[in-house]
Amino acid sequence: MEIKCPQCGAAIKMGQDEIFASCGFCEASIYVNKAVIYFHYWIKPTFEMEDAHLNLRRWMAGDQTIDGLQKNAVTKDESFTYFPVWRFVVKIAGEEQIFVEPAIPTSITEFRNLDLPAGLLSFAKPGKKEDEKLPDVEIDVNSAREWLREREIDPRLVSSISLVHIPVYRFTYEYENCLYTAVVEAATGNVIANVYPNRRDTPFIIVTLLSAFLFFCVGMSCPNFSIRFLAMLIAAVPAGFAAFYVQKKY
Ligand SMILES: [Zn+2]
Repeated sequence: MEIKCPQCGAAIKMGQDEIFASCGFCEASIYVNKAVIYFHYWIKPTFEMEDAHLNLRRWMAGDQTIDGLQKNAVTKDESFTYFPVWRFVVKIAGEEQIFVEPAIPTSITEFRNLDLPAGLLSFAKPGKKEDEKLPDVEIDVNSAREWLREREIDPRLVSSISLVHIPVYRFTYEYENCLYTAVVEAATGNVIANVYPNRRDTPFIIVTLLSAFLFFCVGMSCPNFSIRFLAMLIAAVPAGFAAFYVQKKY
């Protein structure tokens, strides 16, 4: 099979089953799917596993996650992989915007919020991990493009599409007998996770509401000011204990 390079127009010979190819003239990498040719990019990993791990620990110590996660989480598994995504360029009011949809099924929907500026993309295979096998694309470009509707983007406005392989470190860690997955993007070091042990707000809200209700009842049932004052003082004791307990536990 022979196809035309979408960048320079040179002929590229491809094997029957080949879906990834690279142009011998301009070195553009391409991905062929159902006779449609897409540019195929890699992002160079700049973070080592150790640095990625440090970033993950820093994130665990941050505000988003539950206190003590960094101390008590036990890493169970770590691996390097490329994560394929479809990168759509959409022109909205004369301005180009980039939208990302995963090209393989994932529970980490945060991948959709990644920012993939053109500067990060390269045709060249990153040297170090060259031998890593690229995962197969499992989500058809047309399905991915239709998902743009969820973001109120008209898929017809897409002006260019490419396949991008994002280097990631995938960590599995255990916290209080549950396993969680977090991914550290190997080019920026950003932590991508959407399920993690976060601060539990509900107990705080319940205690606050119960305390408010208790004070309301006390206030309503005492006609005399000084009795009310005394009753509220007494009521403050269990409310305070409840707040302290919740603070300790969660
Ligand atoms: Zn070319």
